[in-house]
Formats: sequence, C-alpha cells, structure tokens
Amino acid sequence: MRIAIYGNDNKSSSKVATELSELINKSEVLQIDELNPEVVISVGGDGTLLSAFHHYDDLTEKVRFVGIHTGHLGFYTDWRDNEVEKLVESLENDNGQSVSYPLLDIQVEYSDQGLPDKMVALNESTVKKLFGTMVAKVYIKDRLFENFRGDGLCISTPTGSTAYNKSVGGAIISPKFNAIQVAEMASINNRVFRTIGSPVIIPPTETITVVPKVSLHNVLTCDQLLVMDRPIKSITYGISQRRIYFAKYQHTHFWERVNNSFIGDNLND
Ligand code: NAP
Repeated sequence: MRIAIYGNDNKSSSKVATELSELINKSEVLQIDELNPEVVISVGGDGTLLSAFHHYDDLTEKVRFVGIHTGHLGFYTDWRDNEVEKLVESLENDNGQSVSYPLLDIQVEYSDQGLPDKMVALNESTVKKLFGTMVAKVYIKDRLFENFRGDGLCISTPTGSTAYNKSVGGAIISPKFNAIQVAEMASINNRVFRTIGSPVIIPPTETITVVPKVSLHNVLTCDQLLVMDRPIKSITYGISQRRIYFAKYQHTHFWERVNNSFIGDNLND
C-alpha cells in the first residue's frame, strides 16, 4: 500500500515522521509514495491535517487520511505519537475500512470579469470585512433571507463546527449529519438593522448565497487559506458531493473528542 507522510515542521512531529518512514521502509507491504498515495498520514495537529487535505485536494476521493497528534487529541487525529508501531501494523493488515465526513462546496464569482473559483473546505469558510461593517444579502435556496450587517459570516461543516464556528457561538453538530451551518460574527441588531441572530443549519438540498456589498476590504477564507486580491461578487455554499475519508483502524467517538477538548476533567458537581 502506498503511503504519504505529511508533517508540520516542529521537532516532535519531525521525529515521529522519521520513525514512521523508517518502519514503512522496512515493511514488505507498505511503501512511501508522496505523489500518488492511497493513505495520507498527517503528523501534527488538526491544523496539519487541514493542510494535508488541501495539499492532496485532487486525490480526496481516492485517499484515506490518518492523523497522528503530537500535541493534544484533535478532531481529525486519532493516533498518539507513541503508537506509531501499532499504526504500521494496522496499515499492514488494512482491509479498506473507513469513515467519511461531509465537505463544504464554495463557488465564488468575482466582479472583475475573471473566471469564478471553486473550492472545498474541510472546516469552514468565512466571509468578512477587514475594516468596517460587512454588508451582505443572504439568500437561502435563491430566496432573499436577510440583509446582514456585522463582522461577517462563518459557514462550517459538522467536523468544522468545533473550530471557528464554536468560537462565534455556533452549535456543535455531529458529523453523522449531512449539513452545513451558518453562524454570524458580531451582527448588528437594533431597530434599524435585523438579522436572524442565531446559527442556521442547512440540509443537502439547499444552498446559501452571500452577496456582499462590493468592497476591497472583503475577504474570504477556506480553512486556513485566504482569498483577498479580487472583488467578490457572490459566494454560494452547499454540501459537497465529495467527502473526506479516514482509515478507521481505531476510532474515538465524536462526543468523546468534544468532551476531551472542551470539558476535560471538570465534571465535579
Ligand atoms: P491556527 O490558528 O494555527 O489554529 C487554530 C486552532 O484550531 C488550533 O488549535 C487547531 O487545532 C484548532 N482546530 C482546527 N480544526 C479544528 C476542528 N475541526 N475542531 C476543533 N479545533 C480545530 O490555524 P490553522 O492551524 O491554520 O487552522 C485553521 C483553522 O483555524 C480554521 O479552519 C479555523 O477553524 C480555525 N480558526 C479559529 C479561529 C477562532 O476560533 N477564533 C479563528 C481563526 C481560525 P490544532 O492545535 O490541533 O492544530
């Protein structure tokens, strides 16, 4: 089986990546193939897995990911840095088992006559204004839903719901739901301006379109990537036909991860 190792450049991740690559090189059934892998192993944190996902964007439907965490248990990282040998054994005995999660489709049109862009996010996309209030029309399924004023909007996947979305007051959604969530970032609500004021959850049959008032200060993010050098005309969000696949050798339950990340041992009365 062809394996790619994608690590961040900190010392502990490099050490784990080296150990992993040595074990793979010794194996009779595994080989390193960074260009055309069947399994991509990310070594670092959730941020590293996000980068690995975008690095292998073209192969998403063909590869399965495995995340080794060299810091804390993450939302995309199941394996600890001291479990490398166990992971290599699981790879050697692989029978194709996987679990998959929804992705977010992003279609951007620009008012500069250039070609539109298509992107896919694993966590979320945000549209916001760097200076001043972002003014935007928000459509649900082509029907005008609200006139938004505020810092911006965050549109996330279920696995991304524990990231930026959570920081801006969005709900945590189990990745068993095929849904996307729109959460507001500091909306202005008073007698003159009104938004829904709560997160909204959209099913696979619907899309969200955001039409921001043209400004050079509007920016769009797709996970850790930033789009800011073209004037945005509209952004349409929907659940992607594509999904991300993880090799399921061992699996931490989603709510156990949530508990571990945000509650920990603070369960006393
Ligand atoms: P970063 O600023 O280096 O890291 C952001 C933090 O988000 C890291 O602690 C990362 O965990 C964590 N994270 C990433 N995905 C997560 C998930 N699905 N659930 C829970 N936590 C998650 O940025 P980065 O490494 O380039 O990652 C980009 C992500 O940062 C974006 O997709 C966005 O979700 C998040 N972000 C959050 C805020 C905010 O909460 N205010 C603002 C900007 C961006 P690890 O330490 O395991 O890598």
